[in-house]
Amino acid sequence: MLSVLPSQIVDESFISLILRITARNGFTSPYDWMDAKSFDAVTKGKLSNKQRNCLSELIPLPEPNLNIKPNVKHSALFTCTDTESPRVCPQCINDTGYLKKAWCSIGYLYCDRHQLTLIDVCHHCGEKLQWSVALLSNTCTNVYCAKQLTSTPINAEIAELFIDEICDCLLADLFLSNPFSTYLPHQSYPQFTNLPDTLIRGWELLTDKLKFQAFVEQLMGNASPFSSLPITYQLFPLRLLTRHLKASWPVEQWVDGATERVHCHTTPHSNIDEFIVTVEDAVKLLSIPRTLLANTIPQLFEKKAIPSTLRINIANLIG
Ligand SMILES: [Zn+2]
Ligand SMILES: [Zn+2]
Repeated sequence: MLSVLPSQIVDESFISLILRITARNGFTSPYDWMDAKSFDAVTKGKLSNKQRNCLSELIPLPEPNLNIKPNVKHSALFTCTDTESPRVCPQCINDTGYLKKAWCSIGYLYCDRHQLTLIDVCHHCGEKLQWSVALLSNTCTNVYCAKQLTSTPINAEIAELFIDEICDCLLADLFLSNPFSTYLPHQSYPQFTNLPDTLIRGWELLTDKLKFQAFVEQLMGNASPFSSLPITYQLFPLRLLTRHLKASWPVEQWVDGATERVHCHTTPHSNIDEFIVTVEDAVKLLSIPRTLLANTIPQLFEKKAIPSTLRINIANLIG
């Protein structure tokens, strides 16, 4: 079925090779010659042995280093710091016609060679880039746009961020998108649309006092589902954020200041149905004794050992 088999270039990603094989053999999509599940596994860098065996009958495969687990956890949100979706330097693609392995990692924000930001959205139509052979010709993968991709120099504020700081900015942006989060979602991969813009928003919450104060006002405003609760609980999302930051940021001191200042202003009665936190956060951030949790949360009645990451509803314990 495949008559042309280009070999993988030394710094090329495996998915780029799949796309090049697709284009060189006259197909418009990898789905034309490989099954969708295997292609999805390639995008995640997680080919199973069975999928590898099937694929190896079609193309020569690189050494199986696709399942390497990271030793260090950089974020409480996600385990892998590689992305599932494409990020590219348009100028490199124009020069070489393939996609580099290094672009998969969110630790790389810009191309060293061209000093251009790696992009994950098209600057013309705003759509997120998809894995498509169109990328090989530096074309937007939204067929209704199909313009040439372009990028700009990296924003100086985020240019030198380390991987932990990048992950922290993503975490901060999660709270900007979902201000009343009381627990963290589990993501296998970093989730974002337009990584540079996302990082700048997160970076501002962590370092800009005015942005921080605006966020505090939002948490304590009438739109808060927790507006009837003591202020410790209203500001809980901020304490959850700072507890999970990996690097040091100005926001930590501001959060301490904000929570100390308002400790005395408690409202004695509340009538909310839901305040979901992990067991660990209930104990560490809200100082609720484990024994009290074990005796009052029905979910925990029969448990011999209580997992720290278990999510529980503590609404009955508040107020
Ligand atoms: Zn480049
Ligand atoms: Zn476009």
